[in-house]
Amino acid sequence: MSWKSHIVRKSLADVEPYRPGKPISEVQRELGLQSAIRLCSNENPWPLPEKVLEAVRASSEEICRYPDPASYRLKRAIAMKWGRSPSEVIVGAGTEGILYSLFQSIIDEGDEVAYAVPTYPMYGLAAAAAGAKRIEIRTEWDGGGSCIDRLADACGPRTKALVICNPNNPTGTIMNRADLTALANSLNGRETLLILDEAYAEYVEDPKFASGIDLFDQLGNVVMIRTFSKIYGLAALRVGYAIAPKPVVETYLKVRKVFEVNSIAQNAALAALSETAYIQEVRERTLAERERMSNALRDMGIHVQPTQTNFIILDFPNARTVFENLLMEGIIVRLGDDLGFPGHLRVTVGLPEENDLFLQGLGKVLKRIAGR
Ligand code: PMP
Repeated sequence: MSWKSHIVRKSLADVEPYRPGKPISEVQRELGLQSAIRLCSNENPWPLPEKVLEAVRASSEEICRYPDPASYRLKRAIAMKWGRSPSEVIVGAGTEGILYSLFQSIIDEGDEVAYAVPTYPMYGLAAAAAGAKRIEIRTEWDGGGSCIDRLADACGPRTKALVICNPNNPTGTIMNRADLTALANSLNGRETLLILDEAYAEYVEDPKFASGIDLFDQLGNVVMIRTFSKIYGLAALRVGYAIAPKPVVETYLKVRKVFEVNSIAQNAALAALSETAYIQEVRERTLAERERMSNALRDMGIHVQPTQTNFIILDFPNARTVFENLLMEGIIVRLGDDLGFPGHLRVTVGLPEENDLFLQGLGKVLKRIAGR
């Protein structure tokens, strides 16, 4: 065996790196395009409120100093928002940063992390990075409760965490209150944390949705993760948070990267947290645009799945061909194959002018493909 195959971690042999949505600059460079639009990463594209921009400007004057490792002010504001103690709050570098450190802090050799697929690929990657065995449970994600027993049954004595993405990326569906409660109850008393990734919760309309915070209050073996990357519009700053049981927070603090949340991110997130009118407005505009796009897509004869998020799932048996043709038009969407969801494209609801460009471009592409 050469030193090269000897030196790398064997448990990572079957791990594929994360395939992110392409940056605009990369698409322009590769395809020689003057312009491109990015509807592949479910960001909030609306302009940020002035107070948040002001916080960014003010904090940028302090960048020669290390950030506050405790994120003291932000942590207190988050604790207040959810009626919890700051000792139950984790502030980290986005959902991604939190998951990596969280798994590292709970996984012992031989432990497992389970998650329902198709879902956000980061759960499997963070689990693999922590050396956990990955248990993937295939679910229909159709809003039906049929998968609850299977999810609970998949969790054995070595399963340290079951991750549920609610609403789920890429399907856009929710696990409703009754199912979530049943699942949480069946894990209660076992040694499995129920981790709820609620990155898209602010967009949900369905009254049957329940946040993990309600379960946290009742049960305790629950971690709720939220991010500032979506409706709060701070994706580039890498900041998110979790509400977690105190012992979990304490252990987490032993392995997390101490200065991973920079001061610009902390202060922008703090400012964004109190911009409730802005959040409400972004939500309404996004939902209205989503409705407009969905109707236009249905008029084009495309099957659009119901969604509780800021993205739309389109059914295309030839999704890869449509995806590649859209790229050539400078329209970046997400290929379902990269998310374990072949036969679909995921399109973020963008600004109205971006959505118009997408609809026009898709019409053109579909005609071109049909003419072949
Ligand atoms: N969770 C899910 C389910 C997501 O789709 C995304 C965005 N890709 C995130 C979290 C955001 O991750 P982060 O907070 O690390 O930006």
